[in-house]
Amino acid sequence: MPPSERVAIYGGTFDPIHRGHIEALDAVFDRMGWSRVVLMPARVQPFKVGVRSSSAFDRYAMAVLATHDDPRFEVSKLELEREAVSYTVDTLEELREACPDHALEWVIGDDNLAMLPKWKSLDRIFELANFVVLAREASAELPSHLSSRVIAAEARGASGAIVFAGNPRIEVSATDIRRRVAAGEHFEDFVDRRVAEYISRNRLYLPEDPS
Ligand code: ATP
Repeated sequence: MPPSERVAIYGGTFDPIHRGHIEALDAVFDRMGWSRVVLMPARVQPFKVGVRSSSAFDRYAMAVLATHDDPRFEVSKLELEREAVSYTVDTLEELREACPDHALEWVIGDDNLAMLPKWKSLDRIFELANFVVLAREASAELPSHLSSRVIAAEARGASGAIVFAGNPRIEVSATDIRRRVAAGEHFEDFVDRRVAEYISRNRLYLPEDPS
């Protein structure tokens, strides 16, 4: 039976959410046939354990501010409310139970491809979902043993596939935005206006006061 809906789930640290996240997704939303996008801020990303990030509250607030007037987007607290490291497989198991007849499509930037074989329970993830890969880097390589999973968007089923989204690349990163804020450089063009205000008002990403 074909899925009743295709739902995109966009996981990340979102520290902060920026134009690269939103515009890359926006460019492919219709072509992918998604009904909505669920932004899924991670409590702790498995590959960023021990890396300091802004609070879950701030990251959630910025994701909401950047998307709340666009009915295609929602922001989930599911990973933020889970105590442990945020594994995609656990999130997908929960979503699968909540929406048994939806196709779940986990969205990643192509900078994640090289690490994909290290994701926890990757085989199970492929039973639960497709991956939709956004173009981000000039050269990103898919590990060769996964290449048989690559399929055109129109030909994909409800799970098990890797689809390259073919969006225009948008060279924005959260790392660069945090660096710019800390250095007092212009950063406002890279984030939603409301996110820029939130960062300034809450003094995020500024170097620590030595006093
Ligand atoms: P950081 O620089 O702190 O590592 P980031 O900019 O990569 O952050 P994340 O929140 O870690 O942002 O990214 C969440 C997801 O969005 C990841 O899959 C990442 O590859 C993807 N992504 C981030 N920026 C872009 C972009 N400019 N174009 C396409 N995908 C992106």
